[in-house]
Amino acid sequence: MSEGSRIPGFYRLSIVERRVLVAERSGVPVSELEESLAGGGLDSKKADKVVENVLGTYGLPFGVALNVRVNGKDHLVPMVVEEPSVIAAASNAARMVRASGGFTAEVSEALMTGQVQLVDVPSPARAIARLVHETPRLLELARQAVPNLVARGGGPREIEVRDLGSGCLVLHVYVDCRDAMGANLVNAIAEAIGPSAAEFSGGNLGLRILSNLCDRRRVRVRCRVHPRDLGLSARGSERPSDAPPGTDMPSSPPPANEAYVDGGFVADRIVLASRFAELDPYRAATHNKGLMNGVDAVVLASGNDFRAVEAGAHAYAARSGRYAPLAVWRRDGEDLVGELEMPLALGTVGGTLRVHPLAQTALRLMHVTSADELSMVAASVGLASNLAALRALATEGIQRGHMSLHARSVAVAAGAHGAEVEAIAMTMVEQGRITLEAARAALAALRR
Ligand code: NAD
Repeated sequence: MSEGSRIPGFYRLSIVERRVLVAERSGVPVSELEESLAGGGLDSKKADKVVENVLGTYGLPFGVALNVRVNGKDHLVPMVVEEPSVIAAASNAARMVRASGGFTAEVSEALMTGQVQLVDVPSPARAIARLVHETPRLLELARQAVPNLVARGGGPREIEVRDLGSGCLVLHVYVDCRDAMGANLVNAIAEAIGPSAAEFSGGNLGLRILSNLCDRRRVRVRCRVHPRDLGLSARGSERPSDAPPGTDMPSSPPPANEAYVDGGFVADRIVLASRFAELDPYRAATHNKGLMNGVDAVVLASGNDFRAVEAGAHAYAARSGRYAPLAVWRRDGEDLVGELEMPLALGTVGGTLRVHPLAQTALRLMHVTSADELSMVAASVGLASNLAALRALATEGIQRGHMSLHARSVAVAAGAHGAEVEAIAMTMVEQGRITLEAARAALAALRR
């Protein structure tokens, strides 16, 4: 991406202007962008081939996060989300991270896990020894089930057996799915090796399916932020030129404590917020929700399975027996350093991607060349979302920025059109009352 993902003032442009600019930056022809965005990217006829009992399609906003730099490479990141302020907050936090070099990310070995359940096993110890001994034969059977994947350099890599007690064993087969999410590939393998595994174990065959706790396909993202980029300078004056109204913009007096505006103080408060999540599962759940705001929006935009991602994320968060945050924050010298680690099984081929033109265009806009790169970008946006939420919570609270952006949808709900929407939203923010009644009253006054 020649000029990068930094586009000051982007939010001020019209939708048409934004499309032209994004097309220029990404190299995706504007005609392709227009075509794939038409009707939300999926018509009823196509939708009818994707799921069952189709009546039509359901639209969600498709936006783009700015300022995202991962491993030195810029990405415009498409996000699909219905919640106001998620895209603005991620873009704003990504700008702070960018000032210190951007996100660094890596993917672990990228193996999906298939499970074969073996029940009524008479001698578990003997069964495990036999299954381990037969590993080469089982792996060969697994390879035969996915010849195309093997031809692409992927395929089954390893087998492991665990004793679950009560005569129940589970055989794990670890599969390199290359650029596919891999559910169907792994399920095909689990079904192919199941009967032989049962025979070798002396027991009976149970379930054969992938595990969404794909802890051998993890992504790790780190970022560093200098306190100078975290500070809230003074009321109303710190909104950067490319952040939409309402983003981190205190519009009423800050608390009496003036240290509130110091970046180092904000960094310390973020570390305290992280510790809170590390100590308390009630807080950790909300900490992770804020982080998943970013991850899920990229997962949806890229046509991936967000239920699978959510299931894996929360199971991983609870792996120690106590639910924990997926991202933690510490001070390192002056800087604030954040680190996120989570399982993330995403594909750039297969699944819905095959049929959804907008999901395909989203991948082209993002400039990702592999499933691993997509995971690193999605997780970086997750860490940015986490930073934005913690910074707001640790200082002015989440409501002001959030409600300011929410004001626009309240204005629309009250019947505002075109330029009225911004005017009504601004009136409500100024009044500090963002309700449907306030919007209706402001609209009536405006039209009078
Ligand atoms: P898929 O079934 O489409 O398989 C991927 C296909 O793409 C394979 O045939 C493979 O050979 C081919 N391919 C082409 N280029 C490739 C490349 N570079 N790398 C890898 N494969 C390449 O898709 P999948 O990823 O196996 O399955 C994903 C789907 O399964 C999703 O729609 C998901 O919702 C669904 N699913 C999920 C679960 C679950 O999470 N528990 C269970 C069942 C199904």
